[in-house]
Amino acid sequence: MARYTDAVCRQCRREGQKLFLKGDRCYTDKCGVDRRPFAPGQHGQGRNKKLSEYGMQLREKQKARRYYGVLESQFHKYYEMATKRKGVTGENLLSILESRLDNVVYRLGFAMSRPEARQLVGHGHFLVDGKKVDIASYLVKPGQTITLKDSSRSLDKFKANLEANGSRPAPKWLDFDKNTLTAKVVALPVREDIDLPIEEHLIVELYSK
Ligand code: SF4
Repeated sequence: MARYTDAVCRQCRREGQKLFLKGDRCYTDKCGVDRRPFAPGQHGQGRNKKLSEYGMQLREKQKARRYYGVLESQFHKYYEMATKRKGVTGENLLSILESRLDNVVYRLGFAMSRPEARQLVGHGHFLVDGKKVDIASYLVKPGQTITLKDSSRSLDKFKANLEANGSRPAPKWLDFDKNTLTAKVVALPVREDIDLPIEEHLIVELYSK
């Protein structure tokens, strides 16, 4: 399975903002962006020039990819999928990204970060409509249920994560029952459900060239 191998905090530093890829650490003074608020690399501190229009579009696309941990080829496929859906392409693109099973697991509080959620899905801890799904990029659909496997419920990891994320509400497109640890997808996510600072129209402009 292809995945990022670049040092995680470098990705945030490259985008100049926190992407929250390391769970707890992101909220401490060990955060790479707080400690070294400039781009990585030999010339990182000199990269404060104003970006061109293309540069801004590119950075926005990279930022979105990194938030969700998606490689370029798959991101482009999502864009193609978004153009075929009714509605605004940029918002469709974010809706597709948000519907990934690893993101759902993160949003429900089972994981401290999207990378961790991706790993937990890959280890087969989750069921969709009662069947094991271990593909992080699986796209959930309205009407489906997502739940933690019975045999995984007693694991300390999940207890700790659910407790730590207890105050983080599930998005309204997911109806989460904390007692049964089961969520129902009540609708596809719309733009207002997605709290990420992404200017999706810039990504559309980039791919439309
Ligand atoms: Fe990004 Fe988290 Fe690393 Fe900070 S600690 S740079 S938010 S991954």
